Amino acid sequence: MSLPPLVEPAAELTVDEVRRYSRHLIIPDVGMAGQKRLKNAKVLCVGAGGLGSPALMYLAAAGVGTLGVIDFDVVDESNLQRQIIHGQSDVGRPKAESAAATVREINPLVDVVIHNMALTNDNVMEIFSGYDLIVDGTDNFATRYMVNDAAVLLGKPYVWGSIYRFDGQASVFWAEHGPCYRCLYPEPPPPGMVPSCAEGGVLGVLCASIGSIQVNEAIKLLTGIGDPLVGRLMIYDALEMKYRDVKVRKDPECVLCGKNPTVTQLLDDYEAFCGAISDEAAEAASGSTITARELKAMQDNGDDIFLVDVREINEYEIVSIPGATLIPKGEFLNGSALEKLPQDKRIVLHCKSGARSAEALAIVKNAGFSDAVHLGGGVLSWVKTVDPSLPSY
Ligand SMILES: [Zn+2]
Repeated sequence: MSLPPLVEPAAELTVDEVRRYSRHLIIPDVGMAGQKRLKNAKVLCVGAGGLGSPALMYLAAAGVGTLGVIDFDVVDESNLQRQIIHGQSDVGRPKAESAAATVREINPLVDVVIHNMALTNDNVMEIFSGYDLIVDGTDNFATRYMVNDAAVLLGKPYVWGSIYRFDGQASVFWAEHGPCYRCLYPEPPPPGMVPSCAEGGVLGVLCASIGSIQVNEAIKLLTGIGDPLVGRLMIYDALEMKYRDVKVRKDPECVLCGKNPTVTQLLDDYEAFCGAISDEAAEAASGSTITARELKAMQDNGDDIFLVDVREINEYEIVSIPGATLIPKGEFLNGSALEKLPQDKRIVLHCKSGARSAEALAIVKNAGFSDAVHLGGGVLSWVKTVDPSLPSY
């Protein structure tokens, strides 16, 4: 499938621009016309993290005239292993600002628009409407569905990517010409089923593999060359070193882009749609959540508690709360954890942030441990409020 270029060419390139982009200009498929289209293009990158870093850097180098970057977060030391647009001296700085500074350093001819904020229901339509194309570098399902819905409602294409450990995926979603994200994934995964990179890790260089596919597709769409990744899902396995692509068909019953759509505007609450934690977990955690200081006090008092860390072993090895026994959440899901729990002690569960432990708490309470509790905020809040000398991740 070939598609017409998304962007009209700019009137001309300056002498500086001709010099800078000469290696593009001598490619017949790009040429002067293609480079002028890039100059006129407005691209928004959602997130200046793992995928956003290489995406923004190559889009800037390629000469995309206007580059928007939206991110609400600040640079953390644990980002630097993969988010190469930021450096050591940027730690603590807003990511959008840090990314914009790098873009300007790579290519001062790019007009960078900084959106130092979270993308929300209230601003997504207005922000997206100022751009020709969106590059989605988000890492959570709530934002992904919001990005998709806004792009479909505005009739805009976007380039999607996702990464986890050694596995990456990418596609172009453009409802006018092919499927949308909801055609591929009609329902968000059940809460807690799909671990995030913060929970499961990601090989740093995987971000470049997938981010560069996203930029490649962005350039093709903007200039109208090649066979875009519309209606195809690219799947990359870095360990096997294999790329394969599978067809993704437009779902005629898609609630958003199908024949009889029922979603005709943004949802009120994407977090709720994706269920930050399940109803059962929320119910179990209600009234049974303790703080890190309360846990410390219980330990100092010599209370008869059994502290269980429901994270994975790799996480446990990075940082753990003294006295905790590791029983990963999967053992609660398959039931094998229950026989490891003492009947005569109060069960206290914790994970990284409190989401997985709330899921496990629901199972433990159902099994009759009615006075069990979990640590709100998980090991992260323990590090923050009880022992800042421990590493965070
Ligand atoms: Zn759809």
